[in-house]
This record gives sequence, C-alpha cells and structure tokens, in this order.
Amino acid sequence: MSLNYRIIYIFLLFIYIYCQPIVSEDIYLGIPKEKYLIGEYSGAKIHKNRIGEGYMRPDVLEAFEKMVSAYEKDREVAKNSEKIIVKSGFRSYYDQKVIWEEKFTGKRKMKKSIESKKPEEIVSLILEYSSAPGTSRHHWGTDLDLNSFENSYFEKGGKGEFLYNWLQKNAKTYGFCQPYNEYNERDNKGYFLERWHWSYQPISSKLLGDWLDLYKEKKILLKGKFLGSETMSDEMPITYVSSINKNCKEN
Ligand SMILES: [Zn+2]
Repeated sequence: MSLNYRIIYIFLLFIYIYCQPIVSEDIYLGIPKEKYLIGEYSGAKIHKNRIGEGYMRPDVLEAFEKMVSAYEKDREVAKNSEKIIVKSGFRSYYDQKVIWEEKFTGKRKMKKSIESKKPEEIVSLILEYSSAPGTSRHHWGTDLDLNSFENSYFEKGGKGEFLYNWLQKNAKTYGFCQPYNEYNERDNKGYFLERWHWSYQPISSKLLGDWLDLYKEKKILLKGKFLGSETMSDEMPITYVSSINKNCKEN
C-alpha cells in the first residue's frame, strides 16, 4: 500500500469509528432483564442512598441529590421546615410479596376491612395502593416514596404543602415525575392518587416499556406465585402498570 493510500485508509477508519453510535450503558446494571424488572436481585448491593431510608440506583441518586439541594435553597428562602425524606425506595420481589400477603391475610391492616370479603375483592382492595409482587415500580430502583404516606400531608394546609407545590413545579427539571397523579387524569384506572411517590422518568419510562414487552411475551409470570394471584386476569397487571401520569411515559 502506498503512503497516500495508507493515509486515506487511516482517515476513513477514524471517520468510521467516530460515526459509530455510542454504545448505550447497560440500564440493567449487569443483572438479567427478566430478574431486574421484577425485583429478583439484591438491591442493597447495587443501589445507594444518603437521604433517608430507601435505596435507589446510583444514577437516580445523582439526579435526586441535585433536586434536593435545589429544594433546600428554596426551602431556606421560604423559611419552610420540611426537608425531603425518603421513606421507601427499592423493594425486592420478596419485600413486595411480604407486604402483599400480609394485606391479603389481614395481618397488615388496610383502610377498609377484609372481613367476609372474597379473594378477588381483597385483591382489589390491596391494589388501591399496593402492587402485586413483580409489578411494582419500586423493583426498579427508580421510584421513591417521600415524607409521608398520607395525601393530606401534601395538600393545602398540610406540612408538606410547600414541598409538593415545589415538586410539581420543579421535579421535571431534574427528571422526576409523579406516576400516580389525579385518578381522573388516568381514565380512573390503576392505583389511587399517591402524592408521595416520585419516579426518575428517563430510566423508569424505558423499564416500563420493557416490563410490558416481557409480560406480553409471558416472560414475566405471576399466576400461582403469591396468595390471590389466581384471581387476577391477565390484563389486570398491564392496566395497573401502564395507568400512570403521561409525564412519566417516554417522550
Ligand atoms: Zn411508592
């Protein structure tokens, strides 16, 4: 090869390498997708937290900390006393199964009693606020419950009113959205309103799409895996997982 050809060859090789798409980071952090999406992995090994109790993905924590420090500045100016506290973050399949089955058997009390209710009625009651194991966004390390599990805390006159108004206005800037917003904005489907639950949209929207694909391909199976699962229709998990705030879906 003459020198000229060699130069042209090297030049074209550089152009080729430069134009290759950047290899996307593994959003499953080295865990098989089928396991990650249903929380069958050790979150404590890969997720982190420095604010409150819940664990989250390292990339979510980075975004969350930026949001918290912006909130802190505004909170000080407004002389508001409510800090952001993470009440819950990552939950494994097993964690969710314990919550679900304690509610199903009555060990864990719900707002309405399960007494003399049929299994399918108990399942409907649990699904007002809790996900079935394998269907929770908390399996993903992208979703957080903040400050209080009472909507009234965040409403007018509540201690968290300033925080909630701030999040509604600013969370989007940091990538966060509220999946379970007003029920009537989600065709009255899915879980009830949860003002405390926030999600990191750039990642959770992708995980949501993958979850739905795997479920439809029957690679996520729920029947027979936990108490009451046999009373759920095949469509039910799809409805609950996909009935979220449109701001939390992929743009
Ligand atoms: Zn939650």
